[in-house]
Amino acid sequence: MSDSVFPNIRIVMVNTTHPGNIGAAARAMKNMGLSTLVLVEPKEYPAEKAVWRAAGALDVLDNVQVVSTLDEAIADCGLVVGTSARERRIPWPLVTPRECGDRVWAEAKHHEVAILFGREDRGLTNDELQKCQYHVHIPANSEYSSLNIAAAIQVICYEIRMSYLTDKEGKAPHFDDWDMPPAKQKDVELYFEHLEDTLSKLGFLDLKNPRQTVTRLRRLYNRIRMDQMELGIMRGMLTSIQNYIYHSENRIRELTARDEQK
Ligand code: SAH
Repeated sequence: MSDSVFPNIRIVMVNTTHPGNIGAAARAMKNMGLSTLVLVEPKEYPAEKAVWRAAGALDVLDNVQVVSTLDEAIADCGLVVGTSARERRIPWPLVTPRECGDRVWAEAKHHEVAILFGREDRGLTNDELQKCQYHVHIPANSEYSSLNIAAAIQVICYEIRMSYLTDKEGKAPHFDDWDMPPAKQKDVELYFEHLEDTLSKLGFLDLKNPRQTVTRLRRLYNRIRMDQMELGIMRGMLTSIQNYIYHSENRIRELTARDEQK
């Protein structure tokens, strides 16, 4: 692979406020050999300030993709990692920046990978973090652990580069090969919709008040990381359950109507 472009690894910046940070991120990426930057609803972009801060990385800015939802930004990804400056209420599978670099590098040989970075003031929302298979936290000074976003991107991209360089020497860790590609993010989202709908029809889930159960189910599935075949099987099971519910309800309706006619 070329030394300068790792196209399967995309950096996703969500709702960035300051365009200077977008330029600085582009520069940090290019220094480490990354080139795919996706912006989800940036507050101000395109902007002169981004161009100034990008310096020699204007090509990264030229190829930037701007999208309106996070789902769009990660739809075709087989691995999504979310960055977080602080501990969250529900713990999620957590990797160190170094483990993140190794995993991202290894998986990007096979499928698209996204790493998500949050808003300067609030980071990523819980809903956004729940779309990720892993979270990564840069273990900074506990008295002030929130890095500037471009600095955080620099650290994460540096670790990916270290893994790439180690791999070139034949020393990178290998993760188990699998016989099927991982499910794509957009199919996982459709699966969750299907699952919630089925569980609500079964009376197991109250869609008006589902929060904790849905979060825990998302964490469970993200931990397991279904492959495409497994996801197909699970969708098939849900469809059978929904068909069964539908036919049972029809049958009950028929019997009730018959009783009423008697
Ligand atoms: N006050 C916000 C900080 C956001 S910093 C909060 O508490 O969430 C902006 C972004 O930079 C974060 O969303 C994350 O993507 C990245 N970032 C900053 N510090 C980080 C750290 N220590 N580890 C991982 N990502 C970090």
